[in-house]
Parts: sequence; C-alpha cells; structure tokens
Amino acid sequence: MNDCKIAVLKGDGIGPEVVESAKVVLKAASESAGLLMELIDFPIGMEAYRVFGRTLPPSTLEGMKSCDASILGPLQTGSYPSDDKDSPMSSGKIRKYFDLYANIRPVRSFNREKPNTKIDLVIVRENTEDFFPNINLHKGYGEFWTDKNTVLSLRVIRRSSCERIARTAFELASARNKRKLVTAVHKSNVLAEGDGLFLEETRKVAKEFSPQISLEEKLVDSTAMELVMNPKRFDVILTTNLFGDILSDEAAGLVGGLGICPSLNAGKDYAIAQAVHGTAPDIAGKGIANPVSEILSTVMLLEWLSFRNADGLRFKEIARIIENAVVSQLLSQNQDERTLDLGGNASTQDFTSMLLRRISDG
Ligand code: ATP
Repeated sequence: MNDCKIAVLKGDGIGPEVVESAKVVLKAASESAGLLMELIDFPIGMEAYRVFGRTLPPSTLEGMKSCDASILGPLQTGSYPSDDKDSPMSSGKIRKYFDLYANIRPVRSFNREKPNTKIDLVIVRENTEDFFPNINLHKGYGEFWTDKNTVLSLRVIRRSSCERIARTAFELASARNKRKLVTAVHKSNVLAEGDGLFLEETRKVAKEFSPQISLEEKLVDSTAMELVMNPKRFDVILTTNLFGDILSDEAAGLVGGLGICPSLNAGKDYAIAQAVHGTAPDIAGKGIANPVSEILSTVMLLEWLSFRNADGLRFKEIARIIENAVVSQLLSQNQDERTLDLGGNASTQDFTSMLLRRISDG
C-alpha cells in the first residue's frame, strides 16, 4: 500500500516542463527515504480542453480530492478558448473548491557573492477574495460595466477570512522563530472599510500572540519601497490578495526572479504546491525554464503533509533531501549548474539531472 497519494497537474505554458522536473525529483527523494508515494497525473488547462472540451473537468477535481494533496503547474488566466465553460481563473476555482485560503510565499536569497545580504521573509497572502471574488458577473470576476464608459470593481473582505489569514501569519511567525514580527500591509487610509476590517481582525489575533510576536501595520506603498531599501527588516508579511500578488513578485525580483520562489496554497484540510510564476509564454516549450520554484513549492507541501501524517518525520526527511540538493546547486559556482534566468547555461533537463545526481549521492 502507498503511504501517500499526490495528484500531479501539469498546467499550461512552462507548466509541463517544471512540474515534470518536480515530479521526478520528488519520486527520487521519496524512494531514497523509503516512502511509498503514488504520483497520479490528472489533466488540467489546455491539456484537459483538448480531451474534454473544458479546462477543469469534474473528473480532475474528483481525482485531486481522492489524493492527500496536489502539485499544480501554472494556468493561463483569461485566455482559454471562448467555449471553455470553466474559464476564467481555473486556479481561483480550485482554491475556492478546496477552500485554500492561505497563499504562503517564502522569499529567500541564495546569494553566493554577498552572504550578508541574505533576505529571508515570508509573504502570507489571503487567497480567496479581495478584488478576485470570482463572483459570476459578466466575465466571472467582480468587475462590471455600468455603462460603456465606466467599470465598477467589487472588492470583498470578510471578517472570518481576515481572522483566519491573520492566524496563519502569526502561527508562522511563531514557528519560524526569527524576528518574531508580523507586518500587516494595508491601505486603510483609502480603503477604510475593507482594510479597516482587515486590521481590526489582525489586532485581535495579535493580542493572543503578544508579547512573543509583535505586530506592525504598514501602508502598502511604503512597504513596496522598504522591500527594496531594507528587505532584511521583514519577517512575516501579512496582506490581502491583490497587494500580496504584487509584493510577492517584487520580493521575488530581489532574490533572483520568479524562477526560484515557491508557494503553497493551504487550507484546513488540503494543500496545493504551485510555483509563484505564471505560464511564461515567452519561454514555454524551449526547455529552459527554471524548475526550482515548482520544486521548492513541493518541499513546502511535504512540510505541510508532515504535520498531518503519522509518518511525519519521513516527509520532513524527504523535504530536507530535496532542499539541500537545490540549495547546494543554487550556490554552485559552476555556470553549467544554473538555468538561464540565473545567468547559467543549464536547460531544465540538465538542471534536473544534476539535482537527481546530488540526491542519489546523498
Ligand atoms: P502569465 O500571464 O501566465 O502570468 P507572464 O509571462 O505574464 O505569464 P510569468 O509567467 O510570471 O508571467 O513570467 C514573467 C517573466 O518571468 C517572463 O519573462 C518569464 O519568462 C519569466 N519566468 C517566469 N517563470 C520562470 C521560470 N520558471 N524560469 C525562467 N523564467 C521564468
């Protein structure tokens, strides 16, 4: 019998390349740790559309549900064929279906030249509402035309969503045991009601964690600047969906780009590893995508599974095996061991083969 079942969904653009890499790395590391892991493929995105005429078939959702967790590649947003009944926002629908309310995005630098500039922060982004409420107006988003010259955009902020995402951030700050600081990022001087509610709930949760964990409140514009000027001052950044989307790409730019930053979509009972980057149509199919973001997202998934499995230590061991191999490869001085986006020469396949060698050498 298998100890764990993981659904694997390749997605669009560079998805098949980076997810395949994450899959073989996970398989190799779990075998070397003696864990029986079943990795089951399900179609999604254009791959599913070609077979089923839709991008998120019910059989795929059922398949994911039958597994302990999923690994998902990037999905196109808003550009599927017009007769696809699942458009737009398959990722959003999946998050809603599994109630994956927390998007956790660690940003770490692997800086060979200047180790003292090490950035190590985590962005905790609310994942189910804000300006992405997925309310079925004209196009499925919370936007609509009142007349031919005016668009209204709907922003949804719920008390219960603020409470649970704030709790996730404080729990994470406790577990990280680093600067013990949660920075709640908002724009309450303009979005007084929505961000006012977000801050109100955050302060309540902060009281429970005080004085071990401190809370600071910061406007999103000044946070964007401080991220560039002094990123080391941050520990856990807690924010709403759209601000988190923007700030996490900005933070990724500080440490080498989207190709190395992982993310986990997590709820109470289910989690999905998904790289922070999109489908990268400019490099899709060229075999040069950096698979690190998807691989480190898988490491995050293993950590999440370790708390929910009797064999948790083994999941942690596999996570360490993969992470150590990735970090040592990223710190290598050899250009041939890094992908193009990091100034190297390695293709996705070269990079993956070298990683597999590192894992088998222990
Ligand atoms: P989408 O519309 O799906 O979000 P996009 O191109 O707008 O796609 P990203 O896919 O996030 O946004 O890509 C932004 C830039 O970063 C692109 O130039 C892309 O090539 C690069 N990039 C993203 N992911 C990777 C990766 N894994 N490896 C190398 N480069 C990447």
